[in-house]
Amino acid sequence: MFAAPLPTPELCTAPLSTTMPLFSKLTPPREGTTIRFAGGKPIVPHDPIIPFIRGDGIGVDLWPATQRVLDAAVEAAYGGQRHIVWFKIYAGDEACQVYGDFQYLPEDTIAAIRQYGIAIKGPLTTPVGGGIRSLNVALRQMFDLYSCVRPCRYYRGTPSPHRRPQDLDVVVYRENTEDIYIGVEWAADDPVGQALLTHINETVIPASPSLGKRRLRLGSGLGIKPVSKLGTQRHVRKAIEYALGLKGHRRHVTLVHKGNIMKFTEGAFRDWGYELATTEFRAVCITERESWVLDNLAKDPQLSVENNARKIDPGYDNLTPAKQQAVCKEVQGILHSIGESHGQDRWREMVLVDDRIADSVFQQLQTRPGEYSVLATLNLNGDYISDAAAAIVGGLGMAPGANIGDEAAIFEATHGTAPKHAGLDRINPGSLILSGQMMLEFLGWHEAAQLISHGLGQAIANGQVTYDLARMMEPPVEPPLKCSEFATAIINHFQAG
Ligand code: NAP
Repeated sequence: MFAAPLPTPELCTAPLSTTMPLFSKLTPPREGTTIRFAGGKPIVPHDPIIPFIRGDGIGVDLWPATQRVLDAAVEAAYGGQRHIVWFKIYAGDEACQVYGDFQYLPEDTIAAIRQYGIAIKGPLTTPVGGGIRSLNVALRQMFDLYSCVRPCRYYRGTPSPHRRPQDLDVVVYRENTEDIYIGVEWAADDPVGQALLTHINETVIPASPSLGKRRLRLGSGLGIKPVSKLGTQRHVRKAIEYALGLKGHRRHVTLVHKGNIMKFTEGAFRDWGYELATTEFRAVCITERESWVLDNLAKDPQLSVENNARKIDPGYDNLTPAKQQAVCKEVQGILHSIGESHGQDRWREMVLVDDRIADSVFQQLQTRPGEYSVLATLNLNGDYISDAAAAIVGGLGMAPGANIGDEAAIFEATHGTAPKHAGLDRINPGSLILSGQMMLEFLGWHEAAQLISHGLGQAIANGQVTYDLARMMEPPVEPPLKCSEFATAIINHFQAG
């Protein structure tokens, strides 16, 4: 058990502070300027102060390598006109060394992130014992970082178990604050959970005719899976906004769900996603079904509404007359509302929004990866899918991430502390370096971000890789680069960028 309880993760709903907090053990940098947020977007000075958490385990290797690459990229891109002012803050085991036993997430750290809005962190050990489930999850909840963004992109030369890894270029937008993943759950022997079970069996189910005579087995563990319209739409909004910045067939958002089974959570996620696309983003979005109707008409301008309905619903002739009428009405509605604005192939320039069942997405990322671009998912599905996609393009050492809200963003690698590699200068820093690259993109420092993509891509293409990629190459690269050497290799390739 913890001697001192960790702060309870609560939503940081207060706007980022404008007055400097009083830190107990931190001294903020004397130079540098605070990033502000307006309308969910950062306003970035030329010398932003950015707090960083080194991280536990391999954090001791990853962070110095990452900081060196980020600083070198900014210097190479802007020649001193822009620079990051780093502010070291603490979490995890390192925080306990500075703040005392069990102080895994000190108030200072929370105050610093609240003050400066953007932070980057290495991996953190999950504290063993009660109090807090995971420091990472706590930070996401405290700052309401509702979208977890995980790009999975192939760098030429990366060893892969896949035949055509270059076809995969997806960004997983994983909802971060809802779903079964939030951990509102009770153990099977918890009397509170059992009382809830009894209440569900005796009151809730009998009052819900659609549930019939179902009963939950007493002695079961219980977890709650909340999915809200607000949570869904603010998250899908971020995914669509991102897709709007892409080009061609990559302007494509797929709502991934298991709505065929979990209708009021996963199915609602799909419905609310479509609702957002066809209201707030009406002028710039087309749904897959709408695109079929408009395409059918473009190919055959004489096509009747009924024949159009027949094409979008192949089982049309076997439907009841009422259902046939409903499909015809849908076609008419589409033609009436967006025939003019989106027809004549105008929709092809817009963001295509479709939906797929989660299990089929797992399959298709393997078989037809090129068909996907932005995957908007709930929390648990996104966790699985992003790791499965990362496996195709180099594994955990190449898997970056960002947790983004309206008033803060924290950038972090997808993997953990890999303790057996800690302090050996051998681990692949690519994941944290690419998280830093995402941070530069978020700041709008695209030139520096581009240098990092280029440098990292060139290093891998030249076989300059750490042990994890080296061992999968054919023939294996011997000796592999150290963590620090990989950072140097990336920097050395900036010039040609
Ligand atoms: P892990 O730290 O992700 O490491 C598992 C394995 O993945 C490593 O042994 C290594 O495989 C490979 N790996 C991870 N990072 C790599 C990198 N940068 N480059 C190359 N290979 C890498 O998972 P874990 O051992 O299950 O978790 C350890 C601790 O981390 C736990 O306390 C967990 O709670 C915590 N954790 C933290 C975060 C976070 O801070 N965001 C996330 C997940 C887990 P090989 O040894 O086979 O090469």
